[in-house]
Order: sequence, then C-alpha cells, then structure tokens
Amino acid sequence: MALDAAQRKLCDLIEARRDRLLEDLRTHVALPTGHHNTEAVEKTRSLLTARLAAVGATHSRIAGDPKPKWLYEAGEGGPIPEASICTRTSGRAGAKILIAGHMDTVHDPAGDFKELIVDPDGRRATGPGCVDMKGGLVIAIHALEALEEAGIDTAWTFFLNADEETGSYHSASALREASSRHDLGIALEPALAGGELAIERMGSGQFMIETRGRAAHVGRAFTEGVSAVSALARALLQVAEIADPATGRILSVGPVQGGLATNAVPDRARAWGNARFPTPEVSEEIQQALAALATPNTDCEGGVAAVHISRSFNRPAKPKTPEVERLALAARAAAEDLGQKLPFASTGGVCDGNIMQDAGLPTIDTLGVRGGGLHTPEEWIDLSSLVERCQLLAVLIARLARGKWGGQ
Ligand SMILES: [Zn+2]
Repeated sequence: MALDAAQRKLCDLIEARRDRLLEDLRTHVALPTGHHNTEAVEKTRSLLTARLAAVGATHSRIAGDPKPKWLYEAGEGGPIPEASICTRTSGRAGAKILIAGHMDTVHDPAGDFKELIVDPDGRRATGPGCVDMKGGLVIAIHALEALEEAGIDTAWTFFLNADEETGSYHSASALREASSRHDLGIALEPALAGGELAIERMGSGQFMIETRGRAAHVGRAFTEGVSAVSALARALLQVAEIADPATGRILSVGPVQGGLATNAVPDRARAWGNARFPTPEVSEEIQQALAALATPNTDCEGGVAAVHISRSFNRPAKPKTPEVERLALAARAAAEDLGQKLPFASTGGVCDGNIMQDAGLPTIDTLGVRGGGLHTPEEWIDLSSLVERCQLLAVLIARLARGKWGGQ
C-alpha cells in the first residue's frame, strides 16, 4: 500500500521539522536526567507535557511505588519519581495507542559526558541519552504534533517515567494500569544495532542471596565461628549449576559482599545477581531453583549457616505473539512505503515493552532512533534517523489509529 495524500503531507511536515528535531534533541540531551536527578527530570517533564498539552492531551501525575529494599543500589536513592500520563482522546473508533518513553538515562549528571556534539560532517552526534532515549522522545513529540497539524485525528496516551533504567520499580503498576486501557503499545527504545525492530525479548529478574553465620576471632576461637562467606560460596556454585546459557537460561552474579576484617570469621555475606530467560516457564524454573537454595533455619543454628533468597522477576519475557507479529508487519509496511527497511530481530535486553505486553498489550518497542554505544560515554545517534524514524512513527500511528492495521 502506498502512502495516501494525508500521509504524504504528514511526511512533508516532518521533513520541514528537520532543524527543530535536532534543536529539541540538543535541549533534552543537555538535561542530565540520570541517577534520579530530580531537577532535570522535572524540567524534561514540563517541556514534554507542555508540548503534549498543546496537541490536546490532558496530563496527570502518578505517584511512584516504593522499591524492594534489598535491591543493589549503585549511586541511586533520593525521591521516588512520579510517572506522567498524557492522554488525547478521539471521537473516532480507531485503536487507542499507548506510547511509552523514559526520561531517565544511565549517565552520571556530574560526569564529563554532558551535551550533544555533532560530528563535523553532520551525520552523527554523541551525547548522554541521545539514542536511549531522548531521540525517541523527541521524534514522538514531533510525530504527534505533525499528526495534529495534518488534521489526522488519533487517540493515544503518552506514558513518561523516570526510572526505566533502574527497572521501572516505581512506575510499573501505573504502566500496567495504562496498558490495560489501550489496544496497542509502542515504546520508544532505540532500534537494535542493525536498525532492526525487536519482536521478541528475554525477561529479566533480580535476586539476592544472603547468608548468616556466626562471628568468631580467627586466632582465638576459629572453630566457634561459622563462615557466612563459605556458605555464600557454596550457594553461588549451586547458582552456576542452574544456568544454561545455550538455552537462554542466564544467571550472572555480582556484586558480592562479605566479611569486615581478615581476623574475624564473617557472620554475614551477600551476593546480588541477574537472571535472563526466554519464556515464563524458564522464569518459573529459575525462581524455583533459587528458592530451593534457602535453608529452613533463618539464623545460624547448630553450626549451620542460614541462606536467604530474595527475588524480583520484574520484567517478564516478551515472546513473539501473533498480535505482535501483526503489529510488526504493519510497522514494516509503513517503513517500506517510506522507502525504508525494517528487519526484525530478537534481543536479550529488556525494557518497558516487557511490562506492557505482560499486561496484555501487544507492543513493539524499538521505534525510537538509530545509533549505538548505549549506556557508555560513546553513545551516538545517526542524525538521519531523526526525520526517518519520526516519519515512520507518524505514518504508523496514523494507520493504527484509523483501526485498519495488520501490514496492509
Ligand atoms: Zn532505554
């Protein structure tokens, strides 16, 4: 199917926004939203929600939930961020689309990687969060504005959170609730390395193993002690037995803590870890195997150290379902009508698309921009993808919103 007149107009309107797309990206990359930096998150939120309000969306803020205390925190903490839900309704009966984007990045606001720097030839730029996912947020805002400008009536909710990079613990329940009220989901994560659309993702879970022994002086009373570090080491060998990376059953351990001094038998040790799995069944098997490592005694008893297991399998696997495939084919058809290619691929990475789909919403989640070096100080964006992916997003939303979708 070729682009119709309204879709061609939409693309022209977006082409005319080329410079503004880059300027908006520059503005957002300069706001250091990593490490729960409230000031930059709030500034980002107000810029984005004002633009969405201007195209008819109502905005509500949703308080965040607390996060399990045992999760390993690396330079985090601070206030619990709120999510923002911006909804535009339509009188038409088309699909209601949930668009999810995260405002946070992984980058340290106090670090040297601070701004968007465009290469001399203008093809690429580097900057914190430029692809993951400030570029995605910017193209989505422009796509929705261009739809409005082109007079294409659409019903959508733009869900913004600020804790995606740390597991969406604070915003997951709000995202699930929003997912239940929509027909289709789009997340603005960057395209995979070769420009592919992710159509299936592994799931991810966090766990912590804590062992409790009995302290004793190594020189004076060694045999009275029970080493929590030795107990942890034994447990970690058992964790290694659970893993089978060849079949997608992945368990990685680290960081590890235990003991305070070399002359004391350690009475407490802990290790944190991350599991990845391709299906809900494998998730369940891993969780049961981890739970089986726990001892019945909760404290060191009779010379036996106690083993406690905490786990939070917060991002379920996102398998390819017939609905996801249909949605992906609709995205590919839109791409091809624009003269673009949209290959499909699988990934072990997780994102909010895992949560949306687990909540029952067919979701495709790599409709952001193209680039690479995610989560590193070399993060870069292919600048031609700003206009291209904005056009793809806008045409796809236009088609989905009129209720005809499925790769036509
Ligand atoms: Zn991301």
